[in-house]
Amino acid sequence: MDLGELKKSASSAIDGVREELVRLAKDIHENPELAFEEYKASNWLCSFLEKEGFLVKRKVAGMDTDFLASFSVKEGGPTIAVLAEYDALPGVGHACGHNIIGTSAAGAGVGVKKALEMSGIPGRVLVLGTPAEEGGGGKVLMVKAGIFKDVDAALMMHPTSGTSRIGGRSLATHSFQFDYYGKAAHAAGSPTEGINALDAVNIFFHAVACLRQHVPEDVRMHGMVTKGGDAVNIIPDHTQVRYLVRSYSQKTLKKVCERVKDCARAGALATGCKLEIQEADGYKARVPNKVLSDLFRANLAMLGEEVMGDIVDGKGSTDFGDVSREVPACNAYIKIAPEGVAGHSVEFREASISERAEEALILSAKAMAFTALDLMADSSLLLKAKEEFLKARQD
Ligand SMILES: [Zn+2]
Ligand SMILES: [Zn+2]
Repeated sequence: MDLGELKKSASSAIDGVREELVRLAKDIHENPELAFEEYKASNWLCSFLEKEGFLVKRKVAGMDTDFLASFSVKEGGPTIAVLAEYDALPGVGHACGHNIIGTSAAGAGVGVKKALEMSGIPGRVLVLGTPAEEGGGGKVLMVKAGIFKDVDAALMMHPTSGTSRIGGRSLATHSFQFDYYGKAAHAAGSPTEGINALDAVNIFFHAVACLRQHVPEDVRMHGMVTKGGDAVNIIPDHTQVRYLVRSYSQKTLKKVCERVKDCARAGALATGCKLEIQEADGYKARVPNKVLSDLFRANLAMLGEEVMGDIVDGKGSTDFGDVSREVPACNAYIKIAPEGVAGHSVEFREASISERAEEALILSAKAMAFTALDLMADSSLLLKAKEEFLKARQD
């Protein structure tokens, strides 16, 4: 059976479950669930995949709402994972369109399964349920749990506005909480007795403002004061800042974080405050893969979608970045709204349930299934993707 026939059978299998996928996307949209609490969405997706003949395991990485659905007819061959997200945002619901991500992944799984059944070629398709992209990072936990150890490549779609494209780098993040401790005193009566923890914050923000000129352009440094004092007539004795640093490069991120900590220390030193620093790694920077990107783009084009020619860097951060440092990975962004509609907005939430979102769901499911089949049919492609991956992930 040639590759064209395989893709045709995948495509008609996806068309066959179109109504169900669209219904599922609507149900998930109407029942927004936050990070790690996506009980309904993950259950619905698991039930659908079980009904379609997948072997479904839940809580494979210790989260209530993660899952791993697998299918193969013959041992051996590559394992291609299609990633599902399904968490919503606080307040605005599915304003990032993850209802489409979860359902398109399930659709892609159904398509590949059909092609494997028809042809009997070796290979395994996984649909991975990855909770909490918007906060908590389910994929980070899945990487830590070793879920990607047997995976050869990972694919995912994300809805977007403007023209469809293949995602390039995303920003790595590192977060801080700075607590300054000074000494309270009457602000007018006895200021000489006080140690001003808000002054320390001022100096910290000013020091970072000076630092901005001397860091690479991709670096982002931003934060907020979460405690600024208790009363206007008391010298603040405790202040708190939450801060985030981002870069495309893990190495740059590490260096800049050291300098940001020095800025924080400057505030403490200048004022005589005590400083406590808490910090945590966030999502890693996404490593694009040209081999996978070219395949994914060609399949989207074959399905009639207009796609940008290049791999396009994004200024956000995603836990898909962590996956892209474990295995060759490709994250396509598929248009569901016109240029200018911002993600995480009410408009984007409405777009995630539009007719165009339905089209994007089916289109993405097919393009991901086709890309998985390309990789299963020609092992040299995966070898090339892996060579590129090993070189590229070093930064
Ligand atoms: Zn989002
Ligand atoms: Zn998102």
